[in-house]
Amino acid sequence: MTTYSHDPSHGQPVIAIIGGGVSGAAVAFHLLRGQRLRPGQLFIFEPRERLGAGLAYDSQDPAHRINVPAAKMSLLPDDIEHFQRWLKERDALAGDETAVAANGNLFPRRALFGRYINSMLQPYIDDGSVTHVADRATDVRRSGERWVIRGEGGRRVEADLLIIATSHPSPLPPQVLSRALDGHPRFIADPTRPDVLAAIRADDRVLVVGNGLTSADVIASLDLRGHKGPVTAISRHGLRSRGHAAAKQEPFGDFVSRPSRTALELLRRVRATIREAEGQGWSWHAVIDQVRAQGQDLWRAMPLQERRRVVRHLRPFWDVHRFRVAPQVEAVSEGAIRSGRLEVLAASVEAVTTSGGAIDCTLRLGRSAGSVDRQFDAVVVTTGPGHRGILETQGWIGALAEAGYLAIDATRLGLACNTASQALGADGALAPSLFISGPLARGTFGELMGLPEVVEHAVFVAGQVAAALADHEKRRQGRTEIGISAA
Ligand SMILES: Cc1cc2nc3c(=O)[nH]c(=O)nc-3n(C[C@H](O)[C@H](O)[C@H](O)COP(=O)(O)OP(=O)(O)OC[C@H]3O[C@@H](n4cnc5c(N)ncnc54)[C@H](O)[C@@H]3O)c2cc1C
Repeated sequence: MTTYSHDPSHGQPVIAIIGGGVSGAAVAFHLLRGQRLRPGQLFIFEPRERLGAGLAYDSQDPAHRINVPAAKMSLLPDDIEHFQRWLKERDALAGDETAVAANGNLFPRRALFGRYINSMLQPYIDDGSVTHVADRATDVRRSGERWVIRGEGGRRVEADLLIIATSHPSPLPPQVLSRALDGHPRFIADPTRPDVLAAIRADDRVLVVGNGLTSADVIASLDLRGHKGPVTAISRHGLRSRGHAAAKQEPFGDFVSRPSRTALELLRRVRATIREAEGQGWSWHAVIDQVRAQGQDLWRAMPLQERRRVVRHLRPFWDVHRFRVAPQVEAVSEGAIRSGRLEVLAASVEAVTTSGGAIDCTLRLGRSAGSVDRQFDAVVVTTGPGHRGILETQGWIGALAEAGYLAIDATRLGLACNTASQALGADGALAPSLFISGPLARGTFGELMGLPEVVEHAVFVAGQVAAALADHEKRRQGRTEIGISAA
């Protein structure tokens, strides 16, 4: 067993981050940008080979592209075009003829963004400031004033400060599907796992459950693999993730001078602002961009009950307008709809049976339109990460909740935390040395899913950790002085 622990003679506090996707890597990067740490002070548990990629940017599927233009996806919020320059300096888009959209925006393959984040952290890995513990954390406990983290492979780290940056758990497939289809060779419950679509044959009739960005990715990946069979994509409202504006626009409107106090008021204001924008020749994109930019202030101004209403009633509409499909990926779906190969329905799965390899589904159609029976050969679940089940997704997260250190947040979007991003237990008890970074903190911070917000939040968490380190140092010096005077 490898034990990583700080050298007590240095007396330096140890920081552990669980999850080395963009959130974990960005907290480490911004912490180290602000101050020097000794080797052995900062550990990141991440089972993936490279730090910085995470679920989103570890994909090697050439059909998967970033869905926000490269010019807005920077690790440096004060240098927003940094990634775009990084791409150009390396000629990283050579051979990818379709990376440039019609309006000039760059939408490179997602794996490139993972490489970019990794390259930014690499110097700190090389000089020992960051230790990548290439292991999945499976056991986390409080021991005295410290956190003891054990990995699946036997790694053990004792830390004074712990940051949870595990973000996206596996999807939670609807039970009606998993009950009937678990073990079926073409039931793809988690399409983010590498190469799972290889099980689908060229002429298979495919049901895609979910109509967001993952659904668009799956349709583009199937197309690239030469799939020719019919695809039915369903979601409760039949809404599909929308594309980007044809031309670049500045955010439009003001939602914070007099923030909406209710979900309904917010909806009315957004609609009125869209009418106003359209009157001036802009599109809804500019308004939604402004809601997004001001989203965290808006969220904070709303009482809890209204936040819950936003999640329950407005979220499906928000998600399809806010998360936009890359133009290259959108073109595949649009082409498939035009050719009649892709059908998009407002429906949910009511019943499922199998006969031989075939999958018989009863689909309940939306707007009380009754139900239809359809036969498929494959079912792909694209409902996205199962954040609302976060406490059940990993044993150690559940155990920390049981011990009173973690709780699901009141809107069920992730983990409860305060406005300093420190974790809160079910009874509101604060764990000052336990931080949440990334989308799991969005119940408190509001819009915190896309890369720009994730990076800004990581900068904030890095600042909080730096302050906790300074505090630790003050206490240590206090103890040393007492030690000296007592000697
Ligand atoms: C498929 C997908 C595509 C996306 N594309 C875009 C995009 O193009 N543009 C954009 O702006 N936003 C995009 N997003 C939004 C995304 O939330 C952020 O951009 C960002 O990637 C979030 O990174 P993260 O590190 O917080 O989470 P994640 O990427 O989920 O990383 C969490 C990491 O934690 C690790 N982990 C989990 N459990 C453990 C454990 N027990 N021990 C150790 N490690 C653990 C995982 O292996 C993973 O690498 C996308 C999201 C998804 C899901």
